[in-house]
Amino acid sequence: MKAEKKFDPQFKYQVASRPGGEGLMACFACGVCTAGCPVSEVESGFNPRRIIHQILVGDREGVLASKAIWMCIGCYTCTAHCPQDVEFTNLLKVLRRMAVEEEYVDSHWIKMIEDVDRQTQKLRRDLISHLWEEKNIHSVNDFEKFYENEIKKLAWVKENNNHDHE
Ligand code: SF4
Ligand code: SF4
Repeated sequence: MKAEKKFDPQFKYQVASRPGGEGLMACFACGVCTAGCPVSEVESGFNPRRIIHQILVGDREGVLASKAIWMCIGCYTCTAHCPQDVEFTNLLKVLRRMAVEEEYVDSHWIKMIEDVDRQTQKLRRDLISHLWEEKNIHSVNDFEKFYENEIKKLAWVKENNNHDHE
């Protein structure tokens, strides 16, 4: 039998009592944060409005054990556009700290994700430098083909690394 989901009515108060979480209760679920989020655009599982809803209904485990809270790139677009000053970017930082404290992830996750963000910037820098030098890319379509090929190469590396560790 499927285990019944537990809800924690204290969860929202605990989030709202931490620096960065103060605006939580003011959310009226307009969805502006999700509409402007660059991560939501590429990752359908990432939805700021839904995360806030989960906190408000007390889905502690659903939030703190989720991959979604690690997806944000900290661009602050949601915070800038929110009509209620909820500061979702800072709210996510609260959730990440709670996830570590409550051992949903290992303690190195916060630093590791910061490093992912730094490496992503390097990747972008290298990609633009490559495009600048590359003479065979004349359109966005050319770029998308080039990018798909590069991603295939990365998938190949990953697959081979997995085989090496078997
Ligand atoms: S934009 Fe602000 S008020 Fe609207 S759903 Fe997002 S957090 Fe809530
Ligand atoms: S700060 Fe995070 S949640 Fe907000 S818009 Fe940027 S990526 Fe999305």
